Amino acid sequence: MRIVKKEIAEAVEWTENHEAYVNPYYGCSAGCPFCYWLNIPGWEGTFEVRTNIVSALEDFCSCSENAGCRIYFGSYGDPYADELERDFQLTRQCLEMLQKMQRPVTISTSARSNLILRDIDLLKQIPNLTVITELCRLDQLERLTQGQTHIGVDVSNDLHRAGVRVIGTFAPILPGITDSVAVRAALDPAIPLYIDHMYIQGNSIQAQRVIAFIQKEFPKLENLYQKYFEKDSETCALFERYVLSLANHDNTFMMPFEEET
Ligand code: SF4
Repeated sequence: MRIVKKEIAEAVEWTENHEAYVNPYYGCSAGCPFCYWLNIPGWEGTFEVRTNIVSALEDFCSCSENAGCRIYFGSYGDPYADELERDFQLTRQCLEMLQKMQRPVTISTSARSNLILRDIDLLKQIPNLTVITELCRLDQLERLTQGQTHIGVDVSNDLHRAGVRVIGTFAPILPGITDSVAVRAALDPAIPLYIDHMYIQGNSIQAQRVIAFIQKEFPKLENLYQKYFEKDSETCALFERYVLSLANHDNTFMMPFEEET
């Protein structure tokens, strides 16, 4: 991955639901074939380090019209990207400032390392904090099926035991390839898990990547997935039923979830 340092004009990117998102780092090295950001030109292959994010966020939070607004971390990149946060500590510096301001915070992390545990004492001092862990990383699921640990699950459990509010997510589920059952079994039963369908268009880069992955790792499923991407109604209904069958029991629910304001 190429690392580029950049100064940004605004700390916050607003979502269509008017959520204030902050991305100290932009880009990701996980290489998930289903990643929804793959079609953003220039997103893949480069990490952007937003060197002035702390002062830009302080400007945003100091503005009276943004008083009390919940700050979300991590949409286009992991705020705890191990390759970057270990050296730059921009997420930690932002959180220290928000803790002093007592702002509500949500952190979304792909939890591919346990770096977030470095900040556990700080996290516990932030009021109204939620950590969302993304638990469908293919390499970690493979480890779990081999009887090894899933680092995102371990991190979720450690945070939960420390008193931090944690929500696990598993999206998308790829029927026949990944499912949430093993993750649910390894996750502390008190941590809610939110799952979702796969929202990928048949002619997209994500569909091409998923098919290439299946050809290599699950060749028997290629025809099924081709039919799914061609919108074959029986296959789509089969996939939908499968995902729904995993929800609404064992503290597992369908996305989306509502964050407290
Ligand atoms: S971890 Fe998330 S952001 Fe990174 S490639 Fe996978 S889906 Fe995309």
